[in-house]
Amino acid sequence: MKTIRPKSPRLRLDSKSYSELHRQVLERDGWRCQVCGSMQNLQVHHLKFRSQSGGDVEQNLITLCVACHEQVHGG
Ligand SMILES: [Zn+2]
Ligand SMILES: [Zn+2]
Repeated sequence: MKTIRPKSPRLRLDSKSYSELHRQVLERDGWRCQVCGSMQNLQVHHLKFRSQSGGDVEQNLITLCVACHEQVHGG
């Protein structure tokens, strides 16, 4: 049996929805960096870039601190 999704995922969000989404991701991850567990300087990282069909959906986002986020991006 197939799962039917009533809402198609929206790829673009306005800034209010976007910050709301960020808060949801932070709460889901317990306000901790998912790499090192830091609770400071948290940012939200896209697991897939939009160009690789990763959209602005909670499943595509993860909480990282600034340091780990920079490492993910090869900084
Ligand atoms: Zn970290
Ligand atoms: Zn990122």
